[in-house]
Amino acid sequence: MAVSALSAGLRSKCPNCGEGSVFDGYLKFKTRCDACNADLTIADAGDGPAFFVMFAALIFIVPSAMFFEFAFRPPGFVHVLIWPPLTLGFCMFLLRPVKSLLFALQWKHKAGQAQFEDHE
Ligand SMILES: [Zn+2]
Repeated sequence: MAVSALSAGLRSKCPNCGEGSVFDGYLKFKTRCDACNADLTIADAGDGPAFFVMFAALIFIVPSAMFFEFAFRPPGFVHVLIWPPLTLGFCMFLLRPVKSLLFALQWKHKAGQAQFEDHE
C-alpha cells in the first residue's frame, strides 16, 4: 500500500515506508531510513520549509501583535517580552513537520533539479 505523503510528512516518517523517522537531530535528515534502508539524500527541500514557516509566522503573528497593540495599548516592553519568544516557538514548532512534509511531497512527485536534454 502506498504511503500518504501528507501523513508520513506530518509525522516526520520515511516517505517510502512510513515507518522510520527521517530526522537525525532537530532538522538534519538521516542518509538512510532505519526501517526500509531507502536513500533519503535523493530529495532536498532546501530553503522551502523556512520560507513557508516564516510566511505563516508573518500571517499569524503580525496581525496578533497589531491587534494586541490597538486593543490594549500596552507599554513597549510588553511587546518585547511576548512576540520574540512566541515567534521563535512558533517557527521551531512548525519547521520539523513542514520540512518533513515538503520532503515527502518531493519524494512522492519525484521532484528534482531541472535538467537540460542533450541535443546533438
Ligand atoms: Zn523507510
